[in-house]
Order: sequence, then C-alpha cells, then structure tokens
Amino acid sequence: MSLRATPSLARESEAIQWFSGLLRRPAAGLLAMTEETNMFSRVLKLISGSPLRNKILLLLIVLSAAPILFLGGITLYLLDLAHRRDVAALEVQLIDQKIEEIEKFLADTAGILELRVGFEQKSEIELSQQRFILDGLLEENRAFEELAFIGRDGRETAKRARTESGAPTSLEDVSRLGYFVSAIRGDNFIGDVSHTLTGPFVIMASPVRNRNGDIIQVLAAEVGLGSVVRAVRTARLGNSGSVILADQNGDFIAQSGAKSLAHGMPLGGWSRMKRILGGEVLTGLEARDRYRSPSGVGDVVGAGKRVPTIGWAILAEWPLDDADAVIRDVRGQIVTFALFVIVAVVLLAPLFARRLLMPIRALKEGTEAIERGDFSQRVDIKTRDELAQLGSAFNRMAEGLRRLQELKNEFVFIAAHELRAPVTAIRGYLSMVFEGSAGPVSGKLKEYLSPVEQAASRLARLVDDILEIARSEAGRIKIQVFALDIRESIRAVVSEANALAVPKKIMLSYDRPKDILLVLADTVRIKEVLMNFVSNAIKYNNEGGWVKIYHESEDGRVITHVEDNGLGLSKDDQEHLFQKFFRATSAKTQMIEGTGLGLFITKELIEKMGGTVWFRSEEGRGTRFSFSLPSPPINSGG
Ligand code: ADP
Repeated sequence: MSLRATPSLARESEAIQWFSGLLRRPAAGLLAMTEETNMFSRVLKLISGSPLRNKILLLLIVLSAAPILFLGGITLYLLDLAHRRDVAALEVQLIDQKIEEIEKFLADTAGILELRVGFEQKSEIELSQQRFILDGLLEENRAFEELAFIGRDGRETAKRARTESGAPTSLEDVSRLGYFVSAIRGDNFIGDVSHTLTGPFVIMASPVRNRNGDIIQVLAAEVGLGSVVRAVRTARLGNSGSVILADQNGDFIAQSGAKSLAHGMPLGGWSRMKRILGGEVLTGLEARDRYRSPSGVGDVVGAGKRVPTIGWAILAEWPLDDADAVIRDVRGQIVTFALFVIVAVVLLAPLFARRLLMPIRALKEGTEAIERGDFSQRVDIKTRDELAQLGSAFNRMAEGLRRLQELKNEFVFIAAHELRAPVTAIRGYLSMVFEGSAGPVSGKLKEYLSPVEQAASRLARLVDDILEIARSEAGRIKIQVFALDIRESIRAVVSEANALAVPKKIMLSYDRPKDILLVLADTVRIKEVLMNFVSNAIKYNNEGGWVKIYHESEDGRVITHVEDNGLGLSKDDQEHLFQKFFRATSAKTQMIEGTGLGLFITKELIEKMGGTVWFRSEEGRGTRFSFSLPSPPINSGG
C-alpha cells in the first residue's frame, strides 16, 4: 500500500505540474505573439522615428531644391550667354552703321569730285569754267574747304577756298605730290587725316575725264571731316558706352559720349587699336573683349573694326556697369526667386513630412498599445494607398488578437473555476482526515498525506492566482478606494507574515511612523499587495536574514518600501520581473515553491489603485520593492 502511494502522489504533483504547464502554454503563446508585435512595433518605431522624418525632409528638400538650383544655374548661364551676344551684337551693329555712314560720306564726296565733261572737250576746261565749277562745288558741299583744278602737267590752274571767300590764292606746282600722281593715273585718292584747330580734314583728288574717258585734268579738294565727327559723336551705346574713331595711324579723330580725347591724340599704342589697324575684327564676344579700358572708364566690353576703304579704326567700348545693368537685375531676381522657393520648401517640408508620417505614426501608436496588451486599439488611415491597406491589415490583426485574448481569458477562467471545486473538496476531506474524522491517523499515513495536502494547497493558490488574473483581464476586479491608515494594513500583514518569518529566523521589522499615514487604497487589496511583497521577501531570503518595511513621503503620495537581504535577482531576471509566470532562473529560487503570478497581480492592483511600483535588486545581496499610493487631499475646509 505504502509502496503504491508514493507513485500515486508523485503522479499527483505531476498532474499539478502538467496543469500549470497547460496554462503556461497559452500564456507563453500570447507572450510569443506579443513578442512578434514587439518586433513589429520596433520596426515601426525605427521607420517612424526621426530618421525617417529626416530622410523624407532631406528627400523633399533635395528633390525640390536640386531642380531649382539646376534650372536656375542653366537659366543664369544661358541668360548671360544671350546677354553677352546681345551686347556684342549691339556694339558691332553700331560700328557697322558708323562705317556705312563714313563710307557713304567719302563715296559721295569722291563722287562729286569725279567730274565728267562734254565729249567735244579734248583739252583742259576753260579757266572761267573751272572757276565757275569750283564756286558751285564749294556752294554745294559744306565739307569742301578748298578746291583746285590741276593741269596734266601738275600745275594748279584754278583754286578756291571757303575761308578766303573766293579771293585768289597762289597757284602751285603739285606734280610731285602723291594725290596728283595718283589721280592723274586714274585713281581716286583719299589722303591721310590732318588734324588742325578747326578739326580734322583729308585731301581727296580725282581725275577729270572727257566723254571718251580720257583724263584731261585733276580735281583736288581739302575735305573737312565735320560730318564724320558728328556721325561718331551722335552714336548711342546704352547710357555710358562710346564709339571711338581713329585714322589709319591710330590718331584720334572723334568719340561719342560726354568724354572726348584731344584731336590727333595718338592711340596707335593701344593693343586693341593695333589689332584693328592690322585688320582684325574684334567681336566683343571673347573673354579678351572684356577688359579695363585705357581711356579710364573702368572695365568695359569692347568691339572694333577697320573701315575697309580708308583703313581707319572704329571701336566701341561699353562699361560693364552699364552694359550688364539689366542682366544684373534679372540675375538678382532669379537668385531671389530661387532662394525664396528653397526657403519655402525648407519651411514647408516638415509639414509635408508630418502628413506623410501621420499614418505611420498612427500604426506605431497602435502597435505600442497592442504591446501594452490593449487590443482594442484601431487605426484610421484614409490615404487610399498601401498605408491604408496596412492600416486595415493592422486593424484585422488587432481584432484577431482581441478575440484570441477573449477566448483565452474565457478558457482560463472556466478551467480555473472548474478546478476550484475539486481542489476545495480534496483539501476539505484531507483536513477532515487529519482531524481524525475518519478514524485515528497513523504516523505513516500522515507522512504520505502531508505532501498531498501541500500539493493541494499549492494547486489552490495557483487556481486562485489564475482566477484573479482572469478576473482582472476581464475587467471583473472591483477596486474600492478609501482613505485608510496604511500603518494598520502593514501591522496586520506583519503579524500574519511572522508565522512565515519565525521558522526561518528572519527578522521582520516595520519602521512605523508615529502619525497616522493616510493613503487612497482598497482595504482588502492593499493587504494582498503587502502580503505578496513581504512573503516574497521572506521566501526568497536566507535563514537568519532580515526584512524591513519603511516609508518615504513625497508630494501627494506615500511610498512604501519592502527591503530584504535575500537572494536578489540577476540583471537578466530583473528585465522580466512582473511578467506573467516569470520565476527567477537561479537554482535556489527554483527550489522554492511559487507560481510566478503574484507580482503580476500585485502590479495590476497597485496600478488600479492609482499607484506605481518599482524595485532595485542585486544578486546575492537582496531586493527592495517599492510602491507609491496617492494620499488623500488635505481637507482645507477644516
Ligand atoms: P512566486 O513568488 O509565486 O514565484 P511572484 O510573482 O511573487 O511569484 O514572484 C515572481 C518571481 O520574482 C519569483 O519567482 C522570484 O524569482 C522573484 N522574486 C519576487 N520577490 C523576490 C524577492 N524579494 N527576492 C528575490 N526574488 C524575488
């Protein structure tokens, strides 16, 4: 009999182990599920925290600023290019216009000098006729200062000058002079520019032909360049640009604009002048066409050309200040606009980022709620995209979890409830047997039955704890908070717990305050809380250890510490404390009986009473659990 009893007892405790294992499994499953949602939330945390926001911000700014900078840059470049072309084109156009005017003047003048006389005319024109023609020409063209007919032998035959108002001037032999030599050969001659006080002039000479084309005489003239000077002076190039005309030696003839150099001033030394006289065309487009002007007007853009028929040089200089004024304004406007857009983007980007992140944030908050065990949380995402789909997937998941939790709670509640009656029956009958209601109890029977009794009470505690948790999760725990003197609750708990402390020779002490210490708490639940802390402190303690209870008060709350110098908890274990079914992993603890549910329930109760709980522990040295409870408001009304 006795031999059979032991295995059956062993089976009994196995059954208890099995049962608690059975209950542990769904709990562990749920834990695993929360682990998964933990992962989910960690991922969401990662993407919805500031890094993602910063990435979106950066992307928005780069995506909007880059094209603006790129397009702005290209626009500025093209604008500058077009502007440079325009400026150069304006200069060249002006130069060409002036060249045309000068050439027209010279051609017209030469045309007047190129006389054709009647065909019967074989020899020189009659003298009186010559004088008549000269007077007529002087009258006709203001440019002529002096006119002379020259015979084929090189002697002047008739002469008229504007200044001497037709008075006879001495007739000279000019047979050796270049203009005569050239004209008698049949060429139209234009001489070098001479600079006098009255202004620049040139000598022009043309052959006089009869109807057969024979050269019968030469007509020479001193031609004043007044109209050329005027043509140059009136040239307009922006506000301060100017056109400079120099003769074939590079000597200054005329300049437009307010400033003017002295007549005849040698400019042949200017490198640009040299190049123009050498036949080069300066377009105003090249880098070297932007330079510091030797005429002292600062940095200019210049173009230049040679007047083809006479080899004079004409160049235009336009101060950059003036030439680039328009483009500077436009450039300023473009830069301002680009800056404005970039600033606007930088200011608006956070708003966009916020909008983009809103659904992710909602998902993050949802998962955090699930992580806390609140399966009622739903997210409302109306973006009509993948995020909205993710949102509804999340909601379905939350709903599934909620149903699963409900089912589990239901199952646990029913299972625990159903177990309660048989366990109570076992314990009742056992106590009756011990009391001798079934006859005297032999020593052997007592020996076999007391482990049964221990297992049954352990099972009862487990069932009670599980029922408590199931009730709490189903919201069935009713907490009624009153202002009560916590010293009284502690006194009751200490006297009860002494029964546990004495056998282990543990010093259980309470540093009881003299004055009444009111807290807002449930009369029954506060004792449960205290009892759990104190009994743990005794259970997980060494023989001869101590447990101290003391208070600390803070503004509006009372803190209670339960400190022991017992086994303590490893760092790893500390992370899991307060979790359902958690028991420390150390071998010593494993040998001590427990369900791993007490602290979970205790924490729930404290929080339901409006308090908080925390602890500190060191492996091998002891643990201190602390909890705070609100103190009732002081009645100021008296
Ligand atoms: P139980 O005591 O029934 O195992 P609890 O939820 O009360 O369950 O405690 C959970 C675990 O926390 C215990 O198994 C033990 O490992 C650890 N623990 C609780 N209180 C203390 C303490 N004062 N000192 C050391 N470990 C403790």
